[in-house]
Amino acid sequence: MGQTPQKWPGIELSNDDLLNKKVTQTRYHPRAKFSWSAGEAMSRFLNELKEGRLIGRECKHCNKILFPPRMFCEQCFKPTSKWVYIKDTGTIQTYSISYLDKDAKRITNPIYVGVVSIDGASEKMGIMHYFGEVTKDTIHIGMKVKAKWKPPLERTGSILDIEYFRPLKEGEQ
Ligand SMILES: [Zn+2]
Repeated sequence: MGQTPQKWPGIELSNDDLLNKKVTQTRYHPRAKFSWSAGEAMSRFLNELKEGRLIGRECKHCNKILFPPRMFCEQCFKPTSKWVYIKDTGTIQTYSISYLDKDAKRITNPIYVGVVSIDGASEKMGIMHYFGEVTKDTIHIGMKVKAKWKPPLERTGSILDIEYFRPLKEGEQ
């Protein structure tokens, strides 16, 4: 039967050894360049964001609109059938009031993040995003919201082309 060794063979390095340069070290900035394909469904989705539109894929077998779009259906594993534009309004499914920013730094004014399901997509098709123009007292699950888009020239084909989702105003679609 093996035993956990109390001491590993070799010479252990301490932090001090590194700081005092007892071992040879080198530092450099690698100039790593790469390109990455987002794939067919995600590429179209991101390009549509630049135009201020949300798009999903329909699975005709399950009669579902998948959003964000996927080229195959996660339920029946068949290829999805066609592109479908959906609205930029939706419903807050869940949210958090966060006193940590995206770099995990403490902040005084909280940010609101959560899952929004989009009108026109099938149930349980949601995306994570920020909520804005809300307070701790006004935000709630079931709140109707609408995308607050960045101005067209500032859009880059990123999910952050939507700045946040804000409360849907009365009479607004
Ligand atoms: Zn399906």
